Amino acid sequence: MKELEQRILKDGQLLGNDILKVGSFLNQQVDTALLVKMAQEVKRLFPEEITKVLTIEASGLPFACMVAVELGVPFVFAKKSKTSNVSGDVVTAKVHSFTHNIDNIINVPKDYIKETDKILIVDDFLANGEALNGLIEIVEKCKASVVGCCVQIEKAYQNGGNTLRNQGYKVIALASIKEMTSNIIQFN
Ligand code: 5GP
Repeated sequence: MKELEQRILKDGQLLGNDILKVGSFLNQQVDTALLVKMAQEVKRLFPEEITKVLTIEASGLPFACMVAVELGVPFVFAKKSKTSNVSGDVVTAKVHSFTHNIDNIINVPKDYIKETDKILIVDDFLANGEALNGLIEIVEKCKASVVGCCVQIEKAYQNGGNTLRNQGYKVIALASIKEMTSNIIQFN
């Protein structure tokens, strides 16, 4: 999506060599007009039947909410916990956090995902695919179907996206970064 790419070039900040900060327009302060356009694009890219949108807290939340509004379905988010001591009737998966370098146990109440659900998984970033893999694991443990995965930004030089595509999942990024160095960001 050209408008998103241009905004990344204008307002994205590189932290070290590998973390792109987009907090000023995507995931802490949110440009809602851009968010609406992204959600409309997701609807166009995923014409399949979708009954629920699933994401992981916290930075995927605004995108998931707007996509769900656009599709006219609920959205659910997985909560993160640092220990496996998660109580209640929940489905869990272990996810290694790329940005914080820790393992989280992510969890969703069993009741929120039914066997008949057709789930679109969304997130802000796709890097090594840990977050999406954990969310897929949760959907599959609930015996629901994964329609596909959509992220705002894929760092395509990391292998998460292509590993999932090779496994047969439909994975689409609204902006796909081919290369990122301190003075240049190139898109696919
Ligand atoms: P993955 O699980 O695919 O390795 O990494 C994706 C997750 O890590 C996303 O949920 C996102 O919050 C975070 N993440 C990965 N790379 C970046 C990045 O460059 N910038 C930001 N802001 N978050 C990232």
